[in-house]
Amino acid sequence: QAVYVDEAVGAVLRRAETVLARHRITVTLAPELPMLRLDPTLFEQVLFNLLDNAAKYAPEGTPIGIEGWQENGSVILQIGDEGPGIPPADLERVFDIFYRVRKTDQVLAGTGLGLAICRGFIEAMGGTIRAANRPDRSGALFRIRLPLPQEIAP
Ligand code: ATP
Ligand code: MG
Repeated sequence: QAVYVDEAVGAVLRRAETVLARHRITVTLAPELPMLRLDPTLFEQVLFNLLDNAAKYAPEGTPIGIEGWQENGSVILQIGDEGPGIPPADLERVFDIFYRVRKTDQVLAGTGLGLAICRGFIEAMGGTIRAANRPDRSGALFRIRLPLPQEIAP
């Protein structure tokens, strides 16, 4: 099982075309990101859920960024939007099943499962996923960290 991050992002963007027609998407992936030994279907489902949220909770026309780079033996993938962000007290709770931040979120389709699924899959892959807010302006940032297999020392 192999995931090429650029291919996975491309596949998800094609699938999410209608949802994401409302936003400007920027993809910034470091060149030559290492291949990940993961199930592409599960990996793409995680990306899809994060993009679906960004598109759903951030106002129409606002940018959504997908960034990927390598850092300390891990591949990092970050999805950022310029919507309302997440109250600091809820940054961990958004990963709980059925948890939705705002009463008004009830009018938007959804059950509060998307992020719980993301965390379940990413942890099963040996990685981590965290929510944060943009330091400089309004917006949520979701960061996935997937450790690369250790090089065997000679
Ligand atoms: P589902 O994904 O099951 O359709 P959902 O989007 O409500 O429903 P999650 O994806 O698990 O569920 O998200 C949980 C809650 O976290 C959301 O209801 C929303 O309150 C908040 N949230 C998630 N992503 C964002 C975001 N990008 N900006 C602001 N709030 C967010
Ligand atoms: Mg969701």
